Amino acid sequence: MSSSFAVVGMAAFPLNTFVSDMVIQEVAARLRSENLKAAELLCLSNVLGNPRGSLPGYPSKERAKSIGNQLQDFQVSIHGPYVISLTSTEKGVLRTSRAHMTRCLRVADLVGATHVTFHAGSRQLKSATKDLVLQRLKEIMVKIENDEISALPAPEVAGKVAGFGSFEEVCEVAGAAGCLFCWDFAHDFARGGDVTNEAGILRRLELIDDTIDLSRRRLPIHLSGIFANRRGEVSHTPLNGGSNVPWKLFLSVLQEQRFLDKVSIVCESKSDERNGLDFRFEQALLIKEFIDNGRIEKEYHPSRPSLTRFFKKEEVD
Ligand SMILES: [Zn+2]
Repeated sequence: MSSSFAVVGMAAFPLNTFVSDMVIQEVAARLRSENLKAAELLCLSNVLGNPRGSLPGYPSKERAKSIGNQLQDFQVSIHGPYVISLTSTEKGVLRTSRAHMTRCLRVADLVGATHVTFHAGSRQLKSATKDLVLQRLKEIMVKIENDEISALPAPEVAGKVAGFGSFEEVCEVAGAAGCLFCWDFAHDFARGGDVTNEAGILRRLELIDDTIDLSRRRLPIHLSGIFANRRGEVSHTPLNGGSNVPWKLFLSVLQEQRFLDKVSIVCESKSDERNGLDFRFEQALLIKEFIDNGRIEKEYHPSRPSLTRFFKKEEVD
């Protein structure tokens, strides 16, 4: 058995005006019975202000507190909406992005979440993008300090090559801004990051140790399977599907380096056929059981591209 305390969980449910206590309690009960510790709440399509049509709004202050009370046993995080972009040069987009970030961070405090994961945006200005993201993250950090918010922003390693940014870039800006970042391991793999061998993963762990303050928080990690092509991420898949993410190698290195104490792992597997609660638990438990059994499997054979990979229709960016 592993002596480290691993925090593993999954994308739990949408956090919005429509979520019912029944859903929350069902998820909480199952997390508890499977001994899973992390729950990421999804604000992916939330709108600012009142719900519009089928588009949900953010929960009220009272509602968010009540949701948080039901999730006290877990390490909670929030996934911000897809409309957020810190790379945009359009004023309207930036204004909306800042408003969503502030809203998400406030809701995060109310539900007891440690951080808000979000996609930083597409790479628009080539070389200047990194500076832009850093500057905007710093602005968010000032806002947080002024408003006495304790949740932290955590920009995610992007899956598409055209997205900001690579592991190194995101780690660097997060370190400089004093926030967290989310190491989406499947994204890192999909964009061609050096994660298919032990040395490459070790270099990343070193960079994290040198760059990010983890004295009081765990580093957020997303883990799933993924389909990738030369432009990077096409879609998330089950862990053992898609383009063969080296997830066992990854967990083995984390285990050997005693790094499991420093991270929290949220499973983001998706499948074309089934995405219900059963599927998501099954996938998160593959990760948890691999860790609990203390398994070490460091051999990774990039599979020959499977036929399904070639015939998988490319999604439009
Ligand atoms: Zn992710």
